Amino acid sequence: MPELPEVEITARRLGEALAGVPIESAASPGINALKTFDPPLSALEGQTIEGVRRIGKHLVVDVGGDLHVLCHLMSAGRLQLFPKRAGLRDRTSRLLLRLPEERELRLREFGTRQQAWVKVLRGEDAVREDAAIATLGPEAWPAPPEDLAALLKPSGARPLHAVLRDQRVIAGIGRSWVDEILWRAELSPFKRGDDLEPEEAARLRAAMVVKLDGALEHYEQAVTLPIPDKLPLPLEVHRNEGNPCPRCGTTLEAVHYESYVMAYCPTDQTGGKVLRDRRLSRLLK
Ligand SMILES: [Zn+2]
Repeated sequence: MPELPEVEITARRLGEALAGVPIESAASPGINALKTFDPPLSALEGQTIEGVRRIGKHLVVDVGGDLHVLCHLMSAGRLQLFPKRAGLRDRTSRLLLRLPEERELRLREFGTRQQAWVKVLRGEDAVREDAAIATLGPEAWPAPPEDLAALLKPSGARPLHAVLRDQRVIAGIGRSWVDEILWRAELSPFKRGDDLEPEEAARLRAAMVVKLDGALEHYEQAVTLPIPDKLPLPLEVHRNEGNPCPRCGTTLEAVHYESYVMAYCPTDQTGGKVLRDRRLSRLLK
């Protein structure tokens, strides 16, 4: 589930390795991955990669001729650089950019669902005006907005754990890092987005910076090319329900939703209250 720090380290590693490298050929084996047809994928052939960057949770491969390959890894995608080309039987391949010396930049997606997507755009305006980019809120890192209370206020009664994952409100945070950030800020995931005291908003902002900075420092040490299938997320709370809270020792609790699990510390975040586990309560009905 790549979020801001995972996408950022991917952009850094690929950017370092690929700047100045020409594209020999391009192919999109994923049936639904390529979402644009003009300019065609073949426009990339013969062009040189200029760099790789991140916007929110998106990756942009900047290519000569003012071409930009915008991609979203969704929940199970990876953009990886391999020293050898993929076998034709690799069913995870969604986009292949073939490079000199048999190297290959490959968008892969694990699992059965095809959600990861790619757009080939001409001109920086086309990137900025793309529906996926134009609707993004301000970046959560490296410098989230100073006044987070004002940013979150229009979200009304929606709880923090939902508002902070809404890319239109603030870009980059997903299910993993929202748990870490709220735990660090000692805020309840169910606190209303429009109900932050200035001091709480400042704590939330500081937590965002510290947690995302920390993740990137960790990845700078731990992540190397080709970019691992499973990134080593340095999580303290998310996926740690049942373990002691690293700060106070209370057993971390979780709320199970349809497709994900939200973890928190009852002592630090919810005034000792253990929130209803929705999955359990449904089973017990
Ligand atoms: Zn705790």
